[in-house]
Amino acid sequence: MTTVKDVSGQMYVNGQWVDAKSGKTFTVQNPATGEAVATVADGGAEDARLAITRASEAFKSWSRLAPVERSRVLEKAFKLMTDRRDELANLITLENGKPIEEAKKEVGFAVGYLDWFAGEARRVYGEMIPSHVANRRLWMIRQPVGVVAAITPWNFPATMITRKIAPALAAGCTVVLKPAEQTPLTALGIAKVFHEVGLPPGVLNVVTTLYPEEMGREFLVNRHVRKIAFTGSTEVGKLLMRAAADQLKRVSFELGGNAPFIVFDDADFDATVDAAVAIKYLRVAGQSCICANRVYVQEGIADRFTKAFVEKVKAIKVGTGFEPGVVVGPLINKDTLEKVDRLVQAAVKQGAKATAGGGPLKDGAFAKGNFYAPTVLQNVTEEMAVTREEIFGPVAPVLTFRTEQEVIERANNTTYGLASYLFTKDMGRVFRVAEALEYGLVGVNDAGGYTHETPFGGFKESGIGREGGKEGIEEYMEVKSVVVNLPK
Ligand code: ADP
Repeated sequence: MTTVKDVSGQMYVNGQWVDAKSGKTFTVQNPATGEAVATVADGGAEDARLAITRASEAFKSWSRLAPVERSRVLEKAFKLMTDRRDELANLITLENGKPIEEAKKEVGFAVGYLDWFAGEARRVYGEMIPSHVANRRLWMIRQPVGVVAAITPWNFPATMITRKIAPALAAGCTVVLKPAEQTPLTALGIAKVFHEVGLPPGVLNVVTTLYPEEMGREFLVNRHVRKIAFTGSTEVGKLLMRAAADQLKRVSFELGGNAPFIVFDDADFDATVDAAVAIKYLRVAGQSCICANRVYVQEGIADRFTKAFVEKVKAIKVGTGFEPGVVVGPLINKDTLEKVDRLVQAAVKQGAKATAGGGPLKDGAFAKGNFYAPTVLQNVTEEMAVTREEIFGPVAPVLTFRTEQEVIERANNTTYGLASYLFTKDMGRVFRVAEALEYGLVGVNDAGGYTHETPFGGFKESGIGREGGKEGIEEYMEVKSVVVNLPK
């Protein structure tokens, strides 16, 4: 399966498949081969405006449905999207490049948000609040915020969407979704699922564009949009937050990270080496905001650990996503490849040593894609850009440390605060370090990341708000207090 037969490339507005008003289109490329995969509508402000208007009209009835009715639609979408796992994974591998088995896993995980929030829709409780006046009653209810503009990135083309639209729809909001220009096909495939299960027109709209700023501007100035839900770079997040301030739009952002992966002397050795490889290289080739960005190893096991780690990294199979056995695919585009290489070469110039990889892969089957060799850097210092910036590629800088207190300080010494990991068998240390790390997620002897049931999001400049868990749906609701004086 290497063709796109499941989506037309048209946008999804008000329950219909439509071209951009301008008639413009753009091409989606396979990052592994450089080949054109599909042609997609290149929408603009006018298309976004229409979708927002339709979403605003649809809000009137969708928000008033009994929660269980919204829940039923999400359950149906969960079932159909689960049935479509292989087709959607095919689209992901074509436009994002990740290995097909990883893409299937992603869809399997992405649908979980539909399932989880189908349940949460029915558990949006209010409260009766005791009044200090006998004849007065106070109650609190939660209501949907209104039209949500969702902006999603390319690294998890399915998960980043369901993690936003599932709680939004469950809460009673309607949505205009703008997927990343690199990966619009998966988003259109998901829209098709919702269309086929009978989601009413206008409740979910998907608008695509090659020029996100223009649509983004419409989202920000349009008064019908009450909330912006965004996952992407910290840089764009800040820009959106500044602009959203004009109308005090609600925001929830999941942004960049600089995850420390801390290995203590007493860690379960083999499991920890495997976890480090998994969280650094086997998630979209390191292009995930929760990927380990700095590996800290305690001095007592540093040599042994690094040797085993390097050996495993050298054995990683890189290639195009449909090739059997491939676990690391290409980077999304040339810019990303160049940025990753710039960080590596700058570190090497400052004294780091690449003990695995160390540069792009250009020969033979790699010639047309954006491939980077899985890389391990040793002799790394905290001053190097590779430990300060988000790498977003298959490169692990390894640093050593002596004491628990020292590594906590070094791990926290960053403007980011999304994910962190620590590996140890000492229970006291588990609590001390987990509590001291200034991160929204701490994996203890675990590199699996967040789950549907846990609230996920960032401290500091890694974001605002939480996705998943029971908190995830609250991001799409306003709290209203009702004060009632009973008639005498
Ligand atoms: P990345 O570096 O992961 O591509 P970006 O923050 O650039 O992260 O992109 C994430 C999402 O934000 C994508 O859907 C992209 O189209 C969108 N985006 C980028 N710039 C803007 C902008 N100025 N306004 C609105 N959306 C934007």
